[in-house]
Amino acid sequence: MRVGVLAMQGAVREHLDALRRCGCEAVTVKRVEQLKDLHGLIIPGGESTTIGELMREYGFFPAIKQAAENGLGIYGTCAGMILLAKEIRDSDQPRLGIMDVVVRRNAFGRQRESFEIDLDIPLLGEHPFRAVFIRAPYIESAGPAVEVLASLGGKIVLAREGRLLASAFHPELTDDLRIHQYFVQRLSAQDTGAIAKRGTPSRSESEHEEERPEVGTA
Ligand code: GLN
Repeated sequence: MRVGVLAMQGAVREHLDALRRCGCEAVTVKRVEQLKDLHGLIIPGGESTTIGELMREYGFFPAIKQAAENGLGIYGTCAGMILLAKEIRDSDQPRLGIMDVVVRRNAFGRQRESFEIDLDIPLLGEHPFRAVFIRAPYIESAGPAVEVLASLGGKIVLAREGRLLASAFHPELTDDLRIHQYFVQRLSAQDTGAIAKRGTPSRSESEHEEERPEVGTA
């Protein structure tokens, strides 16, 4: 299974490590051509306005939308979740806008900017998931095709819509691989024929650095 991690900014390396520990071939994605031949893509946490601006500049919006239509599975964590959302409360920042959810940024308030909590995620079994929230968003409302997988205090923090998965928290910052495994298993369960085939020329790779795990700057 070949899974990319979008490497504009944010917690890239941690996702690459988690994917490798799940047995995947994990690659950084810095140019749209690198979307080709991927089964899945992770959009990491970081600063969603920065990641979004860079995605726009590098031509990722049309390329990823097309790849998603061709069957690419996409998992957005935190800022990545914001970038997947159709609607971002009080913001017109650039986004993919392919998941039928309304998200609110920095939504847990100042008192709870960053926190860890044992989260009940029924699909992972009885053992709770230690979830790390960093200036996290939540999903305020979701369309009918969205399956809510976990909530915290009545707020949706993990959800799925078809081949899209989104979490408000950062599973890559813990050793618990269950959410990455879930994402990867679903990629393999659904098909082999829907590998994304799209890629258009863009800028050179050397303009980006490898990884910058500076999550939660906004
Ligand atoms: N607060 C950030 C944003 O709105 C997200 C933080 C994160 O990804 N940890 O983009």
